[in-house]
Amino acid sequence: MKHWPYSKRRIWMELAVILLINLASFWLFSDLDLFEKLDAWFHHHPESQMDELMLLSFTLAISMSVFAVRRLREARVLLKALHRQAERDDVTGLANRRRGNRMLLKETERSLRSGRAYSVLLIDLDHFKSINDQHGHLIGDQVLHNFGQVLQHRARQLDTVARWGGEEFIVICPETSQEGALSFADDILRMLAATCFVPVAQVTASIGVATYRDDDTPDSLVHRADSYLYAAKQSGRNRALGELHGEAAFSTTPYKKAG
Ligand code: GH3
Ligand code: MG
Ligand code: MG
Repeated sequence: MKHWPYSKRRIWMELAVILLINLASFWLFSDLDLFEKLDAWFHHHPESQMDELMLLSFTLAISMSVFAVRRLREARVLLKALHRQAERDDVTGLANRRRGNRMLLKETERSLRSGRAYSVLLIDLDHFKSINDQHGHLIGDQVLHNFGQVLQHRARQLDTVARWGGEEFIVICPETSQEGALSFADDILRMLAATCFVPVAQVTASIGVATYRDDDTPDSLVHRADSYLYAAKQSGRNRALGELHGEAAFSTTPYKKAG
């Protein structure tokens, strides 16, 4: 996490400071003969026992160590929870754009190493503004949440489903060809047509599909998916567009709700 103050460098610095303090104390105690003076003091005061003091130091050291280990474990759990929270979208419960970007980078690096393509689907709900206008923002939020569930239901364990912003979502599909991703897009449109988003009569989406090429960066890949999404909108919405054999290709014609 970018603003987490306990970087490795800082931990090493703190350890170095502790070591320096210990060395300085050692030098001071030996230079001033403090232990000999303490020993002499105990000789003059036989009612006080040196070994009791040592026992106290020992139990103190153990307690401090247990305390430190427990605080470190708590910090680790807290850090994990913070990471999870920072990468989660509140409305849909899906991954947010930050995580989407991180996974895009990870998949690009993996594809560079393995030479295996991955695909992305950029999905935008159609005329979502009119859903808000007709039914209110809360119902709009509910539609976003339920749509997220539909995506999650169809996605494989390996895929990342994230809210990209507003009523736009991204699905990152590792090891998936353009054909596979187009068929995924098809399934989403079919599932949407079969899902009831009460009180909204019908929700449709437009989808742009792009598959990783050798010279792609995460940005160029998403940009290509975005241009296909734009073309899908332009050609009437409720459809998916990608490319097959270098040619722009629709995966589907518009879906109509059965009955
Ligand atoms: P198009 O088919 O061209 O995509 O039209 P559209 O109406 O879906 O697109 P437009 O960009 O005109 O409107 C998007 C709307 O999505 C407007 C905005 O208020 C709404 N929206 C964005 N984020 C949220 C959200 O978190 N909750 C709700 N309820 N609405 C949101
Ligand atoms: Mg929209
Ligand atoms: Mg939009």
